[in-house]
Amino acid sequence: MPNRDYSAGRHFLQIPGPTNVPDRVLRAMDHPTIDHRGPAFTDLGKRCLDGMKTIFKTDTHVVIYPASGTGAWEAALVNLLCEGDTVLMVETGHFASLWQKMATSLGLKTEFLETDWRRGVDPQAVEDRLRDDSAGEIRAVCVVHNETSTGSRSRIGEVRKAMDAAGHTALLMVDTISSLASIDYRHDEWGVDVTVSGSQKGLMLPPGLSFNALSERAIAVSRNGGMNRSYWDWHDQIAANASGAFPFTPATNLLYGLAEAIDMLHEEGLDNVFARHDRHAEATRRAVQAWGLEVLCQEPQDYSSSLTAVLLPEGHDADALRATILQHFDMSLGNGLSRLAGKVFRIGHLGDFNDLMLMGTLSGVEMGLKLADIPHQSGGAATAMQYLAQTADVRSAS
Ligand SMILES: *Cc1c(COP(=O)(O)O)cnc(C)c1O
Repeated sequence: MPNRDYSAGRHFLQIPGPTNVPDRVLRAMDHPTIDHRGPAFTDLGKRCLDGMKTIFKTDTHVVIYPASGTGAWEAALVNLLCEGDTVLMVETGHFASLWQKMATSLGLKTEFLETDWRRGVDPQAVEDRLRDDSAGEIRAVCVVHNETSTGSRSRIGEVRKAMDAAGHTALLMVDTISSLASIDYRHDEWGVDVTVSGSQKGLMLPPGLSFNALSERAIAVSRNGGMNRSYWDWHDQIAANASGAFPFTPATNLLYGLAEAIDMLHEEGLDNVFARHDRHAEATRRAVQAWGLEVLCQEPQDYSSSLTAVLLPEGHDADALRATILQHFDMSLGNGLSRLAGKVFRIGHLGDFNDLMLMGTLSGVEMGLKLADIPHQSGGAATAMQYLAQTADVRSAS
């Protein structure tokens, strides 16, 4: 009997994570699992630990956990903060809200600066709040670099400057789960104390690994501070990592994939990787504009280069549109999360992605808009195509 469920060709996984896993990474992971305490492992461990420092742009230390990104959020909080400590967070969207909820359930007091979910962090708002905190009660500022629910990026270098301008000593923690290796990020230069990330977005791996990049100050504070913890403790990791090992069984096969992904990012060159994402994001926004639809992010300086959230006209259901596109064109798009449910769909354009994949994606969206009877003008995909053709030399020139 033929399998009637078979769909020919590759599925288009255009959600903003997990992203398409390149063949090179799949092949690298297709390897017998080895003794993680044997001599062959050390090389792999060191390649990953040292390699991730080049991706975060830090000289200090990167901790690697077998966990989803959420685990690395918790690790960042429990290694540095105590029950009852106050943290300042910014409600940029669904993911910032989940991190805030976690902080609350760990016993932290959170102050949550509101936004309308259509922009990134306002550095001035952070500065104003910190200036008011003359007693120094705020122990940490926690922000999301790229808010995956809205397609808004926050300017972390400016948040750092705002903290310095206020003369405040709070620690800075940043979630880069959907931006690392897609959007320019500089852990050391921007004075970040903990950067949180995960494997399944810009790093082009399957889900299952997550990261904490640390500062010297974070390491020092955590030595005698933080909450009771065991699995997430940085110091067991740092001690074992010195010889390329881990304190418990690492996700060996994901590490094979990670080492390969790091090599691929450097072969392309990180600046070229960022330029590629910027260009695909710009082409996508031009398509959205030509369709006569609205990009959710309203602040051009905060546009995300890894995904675009698109608002549908009132009375039209974004989930029905996504279902139509999945059914007819075998493409998955991101859904609207919490208060955006049904109102937006999200186009992921990050990770292992090129011009023709973007054209396939935008063509699928445009055909879906037609099939689902969403009021729009045709020609968005053609507009993107024109832009890509005009800027094709950017890739080889940069
Ligand atoms: C995906 C994502 C998360 C959640 O990561 P998990 O791996 O699902 O735990 C958190 N923050 C942001 C910004 C994300 O994009």
